[in-house]
Amino acid sequence: MVAENLKLVEEKIQAACDKVGRSREDVTLIAVSKTKPVSMLQEAYDQGIRVFGENKVQELVDKYEVMPKDIKWHMIGHLQRNKVKYIVDKVEMIHSVDSIRLAETIEKEAAKKNCIVNITVEVNVAQEDTKFGLKTEEVLPFIEEISKFKHIKVCGLMTIAPYVPDAEQNRPIFAVLKQLLVDIAAKNIDNVNVSMLSMGMTNDYEVAIEEGATMVRVGTGIFGERQYAH
Ligand SMILES: *Cc1c(COP(=O)(O)O)cnc(C)c1O
Repeated sequence: MVAENLKLVEEKIQAACDKVGRSREDVTLIAVSKTKPVSMLQEAYDQGIRVFGENKVQELVDKYEVMPKDIKWHMIGHLQRNKVKYIVDKVEMIHSVDSIRLAETIEKEAAKKNCIVNITVEVNVAQEDTKFGLKTEEVLPFIEEISKFKHIKVCGLMTIAPYVPDAEQNRPIFAVLKQLLVDIAAKNIDNVNVSMLSMGMTNDYEVAIEEGATMVRVGTGIFGERQYAH
């Protein structure tokens, strides 16, 4: 099932790229494998997937231990400061940085492990109060402040768009995040080179790609519906 799903997702990514004249290589597919067993991750791996996204530290670390070492792990979920130390040297990128205190902790733990952590700043574009992330107007001062951290590399912006019946409804949200990225890039802040846009999930990744996403986070579309224990 994973193989067929991946084929479909791949076709849709290519179609979205074609539609707006973007190159397929400019979009990274992150296979969001949270709650799914390693057997399913292995199926995706066997199809050539090397980038996986998880939203819980313990689960990421457990899977990291048993899966092949050439996988790039992306932490996409809200991150508690006391858990940063478990993942700083294991992840390719942390997508969900939205506070100075969290950034300070990442800086401290990365310094200890002598590594540099790639991050995107989470922006709550839709201003939903159920979501984490900075307000759009907070992003520039935030990035200016964390640009001084030597062990953090600010790569771009991330958003979780609302769940909507029609993906077109999220197009303006993606457009706002893209514009914010362009505006911040134009500021030429020292040590900051932002070019990454992490936006788009199963329900809206094609629209996100049309609006400039460089990383799409697709879970259900690859692995099927998730079951959560209650
Ligand atoms: C779960 C999750 C996804 C994937 O969601 P799907 O709708 O299953 O594709 C993407 N981004 C984040 C931050 C998530 O937590």
